[in-house]
Amino acid sequence: MRNVSARTEESEVLSIDGERMIRDLRALADFGGERPGVHRPAFSPQDIASRNWLVERFSEAGLEAEIDGIGNVIARSPTAGPRLLLGSHTDSQPHGGWLDGAMGVVYGLEIARAVAADPSCAGYGVDVASWSDEEGQYSDLLGSKSFCGLITESDIDRITHRDQKTPLRAALDRAGLAGRARVKFGEVPYCGYLEAHIEQGPDLDNSGQKLGIVTSIVGNYNFVINFEGVQNHAGTTRMSIRKDAGVALIRLAAAIDQRFPEVAADRSVWTIGNVMLIPGAKSIIPERAEMWFQFRDTDRDRLASMESLLNELVDEASRGSCKVVLTKRSQTVPQAMDGFLRDRLEAAAERHAPGMHVQMPSGAGHDAQILAKCMPAAMLFVPSIGGVSHHHAEDTAEADLILGCQVLATAASDVLQRASKRS
Ligand SMILES: [Zn+2]
Repeated sequence: MRNVSARTEESEVLSIDGERMIRDLRALADFGGERPGVHRPAFSPQDIASRNWLVERFSEAGLEAEIDGIGNVIARSPTAGPRLLLGSHTDSQPHGGWLDGAMGVVYGLEIARAVAADPSCAGYGVDVASWSDEEGQYSDLLGSKSFCGLITESDIDRITHRDQKTPLRAALDRAGLAGRARVKFGEVPYCGYLEAHIEQGPDLDNSGQKLGIVTSIVGNYNFVINFEGVQNHAGTTRMSIRKDAGVALIRLAAAIDQRFPEVAADRSVWTIGNVMLIPGAKSIIPERAEMWFQFRDTDRDRLASMESLLNELVDEASRGSCKVVLTKRSQTVPQAMDGFLRDRLEAAAERHAPGMHVQMPSGAGHDAQILAKCMPAAMLFVPSIGGVSHHHAEDTAEADLILGCQVLATAASDVLQRASKRS
């Protein structure tokens, strides 16, 4: 490993300390550490401890850092000139990986330090955020939504833990955050938001590419489908007169599997995430059944086609012996990334890894899709070894982690230099 530093006629490269960045990443992984993974769900004691640790690191780097009333760590640069916001999240999936989210925040820390140490960056500002509860223990993308003004106090009153159903207010109180103000977009003008993240899929690793410039984050539609039949004895009820909710569910699942490829594109995905047969016993014909169904795509028209096909298949299913009811639970729209910021990321990728970068959609949701609603936003991916994520084994080669940080640093200083020339 080495410090990466170079000069070209285009613009000066901001030099990062790769070893220091890796040390910080490993230190952060000790909070909730379950080597090689981490268990750091939002608002757990280890999540709050890691946020306090981040505040100390940002303060050492000369930024004014705080944890706000929703758990976001916000670190502000003391400069008056153009500012860029970098960030991601440091909460983890339960028993998840060490890089998901954490990498983007530690990149921000390293780049903020590099900017502060580089006289040619005098007057620029890099602010850094670690958004709270990106993984949705209480509510998906909670911290970034709060920052962008998409969460009200009454929402916070209403939100509960997804499994334990305990109030978010109680978690904020336990974490010592009750009564603190929530930092909102608009207090400081930003020229954009950049988020680096592990790919969480196999495309970069399989192709040998080192960097992904995200074109768009997928829209994600979620449904629950309920089947209603008649419960009866599994030994005495003849097949011809049964109203078996379980059979109705399995037939619809098979029809989805068969028909969805008709409307899908290369990167369309659909998932039956859960099924339940009720009452669920070996000698009882199920009276009710429930299926959770989700699909994702980057194209709004294709999402609409997938939804109308789902409606058609549910209509066909309801003509059988059971009642079938489709309910949409949630829907996010695809979010394109900002063209100017994408170009800056691509130029930085080409400078440090010529020909080793690719434009790609994000199949996973990220805080950047929320930030994009209030400022230009873009994302950079680094390879995930074997495409593994949301798992202890999640990892990225150290050289790829350092390259990604350097590319983000170069893109950040490029954006700031251009912004300062305009102002
Ligand atoms: Zn993440």
